Amino acid sequence: MSFRTTILTLYPEMFPGHLGHSLAGKALGRGQWSIEPVQIRDFAEDRHRTVDDTPAGGGAGMVLKPDILAKAIDQVSGHDNRPRLLMSPRGRPLTQKRVRELAAGEGVVIVCGRFEGVDQRVIEARQLEEVSVGDYILSGGEPAALTLLDAVVRILPGVMGNDLSGTHESFEDGLLEYPHYTRPQVFEGREIPSVLTSGNHAEIDKWRRQQALKLTRERRPDLLQSGQD
Ligand code: SAH
Repeated sequence: MSFRTTILTLYPEMFPGHLGHSLAGKALGRGQWSIEPVQIRDFAEDRHRTVDDTPAGGGAGMVLKPDILAKAIDQVSGHDNRPRLLMSPRGRPLTQKRVRELAAGEGVVIVCGRFEGVDQRVIEARQLEEVSVGDYILSGGEPAALTLLDAVVRILPGVMGNDLSGTHESFEDGLLEYPHYTRPQVFEGREIPSVLTSGNHAEIDKWRRQQALKLTRERRPDLLQSGQD
């Protein structure tokens, strides 16, 4: 079953972007997932193909019009049950848990905002799930959508060469990942921790777990408190 993504955007040429390369690109070529970028402007009806207007109440910038966006959403997702996401700095911060849930589904429809954002009424009327990729402001939803898709596509079955390599990552067990080392044995006077070259796998597992806990405590104590989601 192929994971089907549809992206509503004013910049369809930004897709598949980096996801056309490397493992995601190969999986795209094999048909394990698909991407359909749709130009929001194609749903405008006036001569100038207007998609935005000034904010009610005044202020800087422009707002994406609800009627145009609703028509675009209805056209691409009127007949399926894929989650409808809106990339938005006001959304719930994206987590690996949500990424896993999305990857288990049949696909996603993603709306990319631009300007000051989109009219509130279309968010409510089309039940868009607002998703944030972090507490900073991007100039548009496209890089946020590509980030979300990257996280989802890499865990689709068969996309990564070695399926196991997805299971020990940061966040998969609620912790940041332990540090990695590879040859040479000595780099600028720094040795690989001896336990890692001991061949004792129980000790290696224990050391890695301790390191993961230590790093998480130091850098992201919130992950230990929240029960991670
Ligand atoms: N005026 C808005 C920001 C608009 S930025 C505010 O202050 O909340 C323009 C578009 O970029 C948004 O509509 C959204 O689609 C996207 N965007 C910006 N930052 C984002 C983030 N952190 N996560 C997800 N999408 C983001």
